[in-house]
Amino acid sequence: MHPDPEQFRTQARALVDWIADYMQRVESLPVLSRAQPGEVRTALPPRAPERPESFEQVLADIERIILPGVTHWQSPNFFGYFPANASVPGILGDLLSAGLGVQGMLWSTSPACTELEQLVLDWLIEMMGLPARFRNDGGADRSGAQASHAGASPRGGGVIQDTASSALLCAIVAARERATGFAIDHDGVGAWPSRLIAYGSSETHSSLVKDLRIAGLGASGLLAVPVDANLAMDPDALDASIRTDLAAGRQPFFVCATVGTTSTHAVDPVPRIAEVCRRHGLWLHVDAAHAGSAAICPEFRWIVDGAEHADSWSFNPHKWMGVNFDCSVLWVADRAALVRSLSVLPEYLRNRATESGAVVDYRDWQIPLGRRFRSLKLWFVIRHYGVEGLRTIIREHVRLAQQLRSWVDADPAWELAAPAPLSLVCLRYRGAIANTDRMDAVNRAIMERINESGRAFLTHTKVDGRFTMRVSIGALAVEERHVRGLWELLRDSARACAAGGSGGSPGGSSGDPSRPRGSGKPDAHEGSGDA
Ligand code: PLP
Repeated sequence: MHPDPEQFRTQARALVDWIADYMQRVESLPVLSRAQPGEVRTALPPRAPERPESFEQVLADIERIILPGVTHWQSPNFFGYFPANASVPGILGDLLSAGLGVQGMLWSTSPACTELEQLVLDWLIEMMGLPARFRNDGGADRSGAQASHAGASPRGGGVIQDTASSALLCAIVAARERATGFAIDHDGVGAWPSRLIAYGSSETHSSLVKDLRIAGLGASGLLAVPVDANLAMDPDALDASIRTDLAAGRQPFFVCATVGTTSTHAVDPVPRIAEVCRRHGLWLHVDAAHAGSAAICPEFRWIVDGAEHADSWSFNPHKWMGVNFDCSVLWVADRAALVRSLSVLPEYLRNRATESGAVVDYRDWQIPLGRRFRSLKLWFVIRHYGVEGLRTIIREHVRLAQQLRSWVDADPAWELAAPAPLSLVCLRYRGAIANTDRMDAVNRAIMERINESGRAFLTHTKVDGRFTMRVSIGALAVEERHVRGLWELLRDSARACAAGGSGGSPGGSSGDPSRPRGSGKPDAHEGSGDA
């Protein structure tokens, strides 16, 4: 009944061949799936097969039914949301994880699963210039020199979570327990004061709202601090809000700062926010889900400024480090707070290693009990590219984004909606449109036109209440020609949409994208009188 190892070899080879072919042709596929709601499901049998089906039949359905229902995140023309890179070493590491089939809830259920994770997360600390107090081995040397296993017993540590949302939830729960004197150990849910309040900015990712809701704090447990002109949290406003809340008898306990916000890549001033947190004794979490990978490059290491004062810091290698989903890292400065909040030890999980106190059981560092061997893919990726290779990838993405930024900046028909410090460019077409509602409608039409063309895919946000296109650069296969092509698509689509029509192909060339502002003749769409 089970495929034997020889059949596995054959089928796996066929699947790997299929994936390799997919990699070769992904650029030619429409980036955004054109499937209509229900189309994939109705193309498949409504009931499970009573009798076995062949692997070949399954593979044929993947090609015929599943693939058209896929949006191609690995396409070099994918500029939406954020990157979700699946590199070859990452895929192989994931395959190995599946092949070993390890469930690493306890150290004893597979020592290598825990220890490789601890090691690789310590590597990342050195690679990214993060503080040694997050190390799993208790190292205290900020210079990155080898920490001694025999040294100070570790206070901090790191763990791989599924997502940044889960990492944030764990941090909130640990902070909540610390702030309430670990009341849950004694009195349970009733002991959580409804006075608890957390802070993010108006630009913080929506997972903060969701996680606070899950943590029992609800909407009244969150205050959205205003942002400055760069869309970064205003630390003075944070301080003022905390003081107001304290005066009103509330209990501030948690601040979520963001390095690289989802909408625009704004970077909150973590060192100043950390000062405010220290002054009031609040837990500081830094969410660097997307942008954090940039710290691998010394020139972008300013993004970890203030991390030495954070209670927790997280980023997603599954976004911008070539590690296929899912892989989100959470570091904490005080592992005891996390473990005390999340640990429940039933009889059936007791074992000698746990009781010795000499090992880490990662089930106590996360919401689920079970866990996959995720560090394998991270380890494969780092070993394959080397730190230098990863730096080269990040640098190229930032270079391409900055090039696009300069083209936008140089074209009077376009505007940047926010600073673009790293790999995300937020832009708007303005042409000669005076009315902001009309401008929103035209920009939406431009984006939809491009996405429907299948030639590229980008997403949007609102900046200052205005519709804004986001170009997120980070696909592993992206090259300058793809970004140049997108810029041409944007300009062609703008010409068609501002004219109020759907006519014209979104594919034609619109001249030299690097043409500086004010040089040469204006494009036809400039000064078209469109209002
Ligand atoms: N935080 C930031 C800054 C993000 O950009 C995102 C995703 O867009 C998240 C959190 C949520 O990530 P995840 O899907 O890993 O929960």
